[in-house]
Amino acid sequence: MENFTYSRATSLSDATTQAVSDQNSMFIAGGTNVVDRLKVFLDQPSQLIDISRLQMQDIELMADGSLRLGALVSNTAVADNSHIRHNYPMLARAILSGASQQIRNMATVGGNLLQRTRCPYYYDTAFPCNKRISGTGCPAVTGVNRNHAILGASEECVAVHPSDMCVALAALDAVVEVASPQGQRQIPFTEFHRLPENTPEKDTNLAPGELITAVILPPLSWGKSGVYLKLRDRASYSFALISVAAAINLLGESQSNTIQSVRLAMGGVAHKPWRATAAEEFLIGKSANRETFTEAAEIALQGANPLTHNGYKVELAKRAIRRALTVSAQGGGVV
Ligand SMILES: Cc1cc2nc3c(=O)[nH]c(=O)nc-3n(C[C@H](O)[C@H](O)[C@H](O)COP(=O)(O)OP(=O)(O)OC[C@H]3O[C@@H](n4cnc5c(N)ncnc54)[C@H](O)[C@@H]3O)c2cc1C
Repeated sequence: MENFTYSRATSLSDATTQAVSDQNSMFIAGGTNVVDRLKVFLDQPSQLIDISRLQMQDIELMADGSLRLGALVSNTAVADNSHIRHNYPMLARAILSGASQQIRNMATVGGNLLQRTRCPYYYDTAFPCNKRISGTGCPAVTGVNRNHAILGASEECVAVHPSDMCVALAALDAVVEVASPQGQRQIPFTEFHRLPENTPEKDTNLAPGELITAVILPPLSWGKSGVYLKLRDRASYSFALISVAAAINLLGESQSNTIQSVRLAMGGVAHKPWRATAAEEFLIGKSANRETFTEAAEIALQGANPLTHNGYKVELAKRAIRRALTVSAQGGGVV
């Protein structure tokens, strides 16, 4: 770890002003990712700006029915919140499928969005990595790439985004609220993270020095059918090989089997949480059954471009989608 200056932000404007005036500074919230990165020289900031005491610790139900999650709310508090468990269960389950209780107690909403890939070539500074140092190359393209991307990758980077929470947030049409000395703005969740293209060093569309202040969940009256399915090498304490967040709303009449609306997103497949919009469009108006879900899964994986060692992910993702949609159509619950 390189030496750095530590400063504790006293207000939102203090935090963003400090960040803009020293562009080699970093925010620290729960510290569960950033400290790991400092220890192995992935980041070498001149200054760490501790934002953990700022007033962004509340979950608020807004007048329009949306739920505002302050950027410093812990992952545990989000997963334990009764409104979230009832109305957005896919989010609670996604969070609880990740890390450990101790890490979730420290981890924050904002930090979870900005955790970086677990690609082993990114973490090992003995290897080149375009995400670490632009223009040095991507050894994963021809190396051991079992855990890597099958959708949306580029020749410069095949890493995947590691977050479970973000897959649910993509499906829920969340909005990220950010602040800078210029003021506040909102970014739709699906536009927050980036595909690698030729700038894999950039994970998000945040401007330098911008601070996440909250994540907003729009109301979703049928969100209680939401599910989260995570498939991984170990039953716990492991990142997703494939994950699926799904929710289905069947037409109002009882016994109806027609899909009125649907949300579908995948994790472990791309450089960002992957919203399967073409599959969603296909599903609307169709009968909720195995054949429909199988076809939707085929559509969701159209364009998949597996590497040498991760072809299994294509079939695994299709089956995970079918399973998640089936459970959601039955009303939701544990997949
Ligand atoms: C052993 C282990 C296992 C894990 N397993 C999983 C898993 O299975 N699934 C999963 O999803 N996650 C997993 N995680 C990741 C964990 O969820 C993240 O480390 C955590 O969410 C990061 O939150 P934090 O508050 O600690 O962020 P920090 O480490 O404090 O910060 C992370 C990044 O976000 C930036 N940042 C933090 N807050 C803000 C803000 N408000 N505005 C702008 N920038 C900000 C920091 O500068 C830094 O770049 C695991 C972590 C560990 C250590």
